[in-house]
Amino acid sequence: MTDKEYLNSLRIPTKDNPLRILMSACLSGITCGWDGTANGEYPSALKVLQYDTVKVFKFCPEEFSFGSPREMCDIHGGTGFDVLDGKAKLLTESGHDWTEGILEASAQMLKIAQQENIELALLMDISAACGSQVIYNGNRFSDNKVYQIGAGVASALLIRNGYKVISQRDYASLEILYSKIDPSYPIDPTKLDHHEIDWYKKYFKLR
Ligand code: SF4
Repeated sequence: MTDKEYLNSLRIPTKDNPLRILMSACLSGITCGWDGTANGEYPSALKVLQYDTVKVFKFCPEEFSFGSPREMCDIHGGTGFDVLDGKAKLLTESGHDWTEGILEASAQMLKIAQQENIELALLMDISAACGSQVIYNGNRFSDNKVYQIGAGVASALLIRNGYKVISQRDYASLEILYSKIDPSYPIDPTKLDHHEIDWYKKYFKLR
């Protein structure tokens, strides 16, 4: 099922039975980023916090295992799925191997998703933990910074366990989400998901 098909299948939530969303803590404004700042500048994500028919569970996998602030880390040798399969590693910019820690944090995020019966994960894209569409390929501080299509480690574990993960840049999917939360919300048909924008298609040579 595509993201949009899944979002269209979501129920209309109520105050008594709110929609249960797992969210990257930094997207909600919590200062758990690697440099001790938040990523709370995305209205597309912040909007979910405004509704009393949504219950949001905030979690930062990297902070769980490594604290904040911390070194920047990226996946080397593959995507988050490859880290889960033991084929790639999570390394810090100075070369420390944080693979074991991110696997523990991802397991904790999955545990929250299962315990809280979440219906959707809204996570920060590009992150080596939370990314769902695009992540860095190797160290983002190198002169030759490279992106790859793929999920971060925590997202990959959620996806592998059947959860739907969208990012704050999946604007078309978010439009559907907000129309479910508020049936009077008018969907903007011009909005696109991250994999539909020109940058994505050009960068990954998909056209
Ligand atoms: S690990 Fe996820 S929640 Fe934590 S700062 Fe990075 S993107 Fe945000």
